[in-house]
Amino acid sequence: MHKFHENPYLTEINSTVTIAFTENDQNYVQIVDNIFYPRGGGQKGDKGTLTINDTNYNVIDTIKDPYNEDGVLLITAEKIPEDTKGRAVFCKLNWEFRYKQMKLHTSAHLHHCLLEKTTGKSFPFPKVSDIQDGFVFNRYENDEITPELVEKTNETFRETVSLGAEVKTYPDSEKKGFRWWECLGYKIPCGGTHIKNISEIGVVKIEYNQKKGTPTINIKLE
Ligand SMILES: [Zn+2]
Repeated sequence: MHKFHENPYLTEINSTVTIAFTENDQNYVQIVDNIFYPRGGGQKGDKGTLTINDTNYNVIDTIKDPYNEDGVLLITAEKIPEDTKGRAVFCKLNWEFRYKQMKLHTSAHLHHCLLEKTTGKSFPFPKVSDIQDGFVFNRYENDEITPELVEKTNETFRETVSLGAEVKTYPDSEKKGFRWWECLGYKIPCGGTHIKNISEIGVVKIEYNQKKGTPTINIKLE
């Protein structure tokens, strides 16, 4: 059971090991109740630690299980003995890393919505929206995203963040595994992890680049 959707602020949990194995020199472990978000959807995989029988194991990345669409695999730096199946495990998230992911990722959604608010029309979602080390970017294939429009949107972004607004996330009522992000009346399909209120984003630095007709907006937390 994945807990990162119902409570993305949960940083520690007691769980049980389902399976531990090594494949192609990579150490994997699967647990029953899980707080680690797997990379994808514009966010990096979570990191943290697992404690099994007083031994700590470092989680260096988290991925979706390629053999089970609902499953998640934690990648550990150290090999976990295969006989730990069914053992109790204490899980601790690298919260500093995750919280930054949540703030950056939510910033990317918000900036897109405010581009629409500024122009009063809807735009196709960014071609790519992803996190690099220390910043998030939205890359468009749309020449209507001009530096002037982005500049105006950036002002609105700063005002809107300082006023704050609630972020709601919820599962689709029909499509299983499909989720929505909603803020200020705008909706984006997304199964990522997000902050509860946009005021948590704080002060940002926003840059506009254009290479070969693909406007890119970089957002960095200050
Ligand atoms: Zn999202």
